[in-house]
Amino acid sequence: MARGPLDWIDGELQRLSTRGLRRALEPLGSAQGPVVEVGGRRLVNLCSNDYLGLAGDPRLRAAAAAAALAEGAGSGASRLVAGDLAIHGRLEAALAALHRAPAALLLNSGYHANAGVPAALVGRDDAIFADVLDHASIVDGALLSRAALVRYRHGDLDELADLLAASRARRRLVITDAVFSMDGDAAPLAGIAELCDRHGAMLYVDEAHAVGVLGPTGAGLAEALGLEARVDVSMGTLGKALGSFGAYVAGEARLRDLLLSRCRTFVFTTALPPAACGATLAALEVLRAEPERRARLGALVARMRAGLAARGFDVARVVAPIFPVVLGGEARALAAAAGLRERGFFVRAIRPPTVPAGTSRLRVALTAGHGPDQVDAFLGALDEVLAALPPA
Ligand code: PMP
Repeated sequence: MARGPLDWIDGELQRLSTRGLRRALEPLGSAQGPVVEVGGRRLVNLCSNDYLGLAGDPRLRAAAAAAALAEGAGSGASRLVAGDLAIHGRLEAALAALHRAPAALLLNSGYHANAGVPAALVGRDDAIFADVLDHASIVDGALLSRAALVRYRHGDLDELADLLAASRARRRLVITDAVFSMDGDAAPLAGIAELCDRHGAMLYVDEAHAVGVLGPTGAGLAEALGLEARVDVSMGTLGKALGSFGAYVAGEARLRDLLLSRCRTFVFTTALPPAACGATLAALEVLRAEPERRARLGALVARMRAGLAARGFDVARVVAPIFPVVLGGEARALAAAAGLRERGFFVRAIRPPTVPAGTSRLRVALTAGHGPDQVDAFLGALDEVLAALPPA
């Protein structure tokens, strides 16, 4: 092996392996779907975010192809230079309509949105208040903004109230996941909105795991709770329930105007390719025309919740198709994932730093493409695997 300034990486990888924290890719041999091919075997896929089962839908694939044929394979430039294609505007109008907001702005991914939007809203003299379980991209965006980052205990309104009351910051921005990505529970949004009103703070809600899943029209948690008008910045992703790729922020027109000039992850990057936008437009049409998908998913979520609760897992607060099967140490989570794999289920062990130390888990995700029989078979396999696990 070559020797040189990268030699330190060998030791680092070894340390990650020893601690059960080394990550590895698992190439799929098939398209995304409720059953996928992994390592030459067909496995029930319980670890995608394709909640409505749209990523492999022929209508989205056809729309992606049509958009590429009509508007090109790539967008060619950033939106502000020569990359502002007609399909971007059409998609932004559709996303604004979904959220009943005056405007929306596309970002290239949820990561881009959370990494860049906070810095357009707050800076050195300001403060961001974030739930300790908010997604990593929110933490990164907060750090990039240079505002003080103040974390509050998960869902703890009393602590948030105290922190807001004590803050002397010029501007205050509260950022929360709508549905928490590794726990499937919802933020106490009504209480958070009220605190924001009381303290004149801006409210930024990351609906990544809620769009397409929650709310009468699938607009997310704020819609489900009738709080859309109280949210200043509605951020959503397009690569999960909507089956394609990208993200957006919906809100007032002046917010969009500011982001156009100030959001570095919008300004300094090539615009989304037409295919991704075409697929999303088709997904939004499916969302509108086939509410039964969300109903089917809701029934599966209820079935899984009951099954896991009966086995003693803490899933009572789960509102979305994400179930934390918390097992403790990394080794137990890895062993459980391996046991399930042997029994035909593709589930990933989620370990620190994605989740807090000591809460390594299986993150079990359902899609509208699954059937009740697959939920039941999974629960049966889980029983066998848990019986064979070493004690916590
Ligand atoms: N926010 C949350 C809550 C997420 O879970 C994720 C992705 N896991 C993102 C943002 C990032 O979105 P994207 O995958 O579109 O970059």
